[in-house]
Amino acid sequence: MTMTPDRQKVDRDEVFLEYTKSICPVCKTVIDGEVNVKDNRVFLRKRCAEHGQFEALLYSGIGLLEATNLSVGRGTETPFEQFGAPWMDGEKVAAALNAAQLPGLKFVPQSFVPVSGLYMGRRCNGVGIRIGDRAAVRAMRLGIQIAVVLGKMYPRDFQVEKTIALLGNSETVQKLESGASPAEIVASWQSALNEFEQTRRKYLLYK
Ligand SMILES: [Zn+2]
Repeated sequence: MTMTPDRQKVDRDEVFLEYTKSICPVCKTVIDGEVNVKDNRVFLRKRCAEHGQFEALLYSGIGLLEATNLSVGRGTETPFEQFGAPWMDGEKVAAALNAAQLPGLKFVPQSFVPVSGLYMGRRCNGVGIRIGDRAAVRAMRLGIQIAVVLGKMYPRDFQVEKTIALLGNSETVQKLESGASPAEIVASWQSALNEFEQTRRKYLLYK
């Protein structure tokens, strides 16, 4: 199956970034998806011939973690909807994220084995991300919360500094290291996030 070429119907201010593979949340078959930027939010859109269109809002937040030694589900059927690593404990991390009570999101332990990319062929003890109230989800806040949780639980294993390297914001590294709350960090990030989206867009377009 190929992606329906219906880009004409999409608003003009939306910018296409890349194609990817994903999975239909209803019938679980592998379908095509595309990553787009709109209103400074990066999201994954996918279309199933039978079940219609879905949007994965999580991409922008999970994307923050891609430069680290954490798998964000690339090489699996549900990229950006799960994350993990061989050194991680999915149950503990899911519990810590649930305790943070992020609006619209729940977390479940979920192991996976990427067929390509980081940790190819290795079992990642991961966390699956479940969306409830889509309107309430703040994807960037999610990415930062994950970075904070992993930074605290795995100070030697998780490359927290690479999360922030993407944003070029050493002030944030200091805040993370000094134990600032994710909410506090999000508030200080707005301009850096805008810059990040610009940089990321260039990188993906010219790669
Ligand atoms: Zn389907």
